[in-house]
Amino acid sequence: MSDIRIHPAVDSGVRAGSDSFNGGTLHCHCSENPVEVTVKAQCAHNHVCGCTKCWKPGGALFSMVAVVPRESLSVTANEDKLEVVDTSAAIQRHACKECGVHMFGRIENTDHPFHGLDFIHTELSDDKGWAAPEFAAFVSSIIESGANPDNMDKVRGRLKELGLEPYDCLSPPLMDAIAIHTAKAKGVL
Ligand SMILES: [Zn+2]
Ligand SMILES: [Zn+2]
Repeated sequence: MSDIRIHPAVDSGVRAGSDSFNGGTLHCHCSENPVEVTVKAQCAHNHVCGCTKCWKPGGALFSMVAVVPRESLSVTANEDKLEVVDTSAAIQRHACKECGVHMFGRIENTDHPFHGLDFIHTELSDDKGWAAPEFAAFVSSIIESGANPDNMDKVRGRLKELGLEPYDCLSPPLMDAIAIHTAKAKGVL
């Protein structure tokens, strides 16, 4: 099953994070004047994601994405190189105009269940200790990016082997969080 390349950060096994880790810096792939983002917090809900919107490195079936509190994240170098990939999307993905790497995703809609959280790709950081990915989200969606549907059993098998439980939406705790937000907004909770 090791011929299935999920993501470079997990293909040789998932590395555990550090409980004492408090954040670090992320850089885009530009060799000159890279965009730098500083995060002053450990990440949460790190996972691999099969959706078509998250930035993923070349050759990978999945992206790897986590959340951090919005107030813990700031752009600390070359902010002028950033632009929003799709201004109509719920998550505004701020990408480097030169190398295309997504540096962070931000939700501006205050009614959104995940408002207040920014999305980051911890692989862009050389700092060690970021919380490890815990599950795989939107697994079926890799087919929309051109993955062979006949390989899905192998992909899900490899994810389970890596300890990344495959889901075709988000993980149960995150789906519950969305439903709780919606229930409170409707006044039934
Ligand atoms: Zn760049
Ligand atoms: Zn995604």
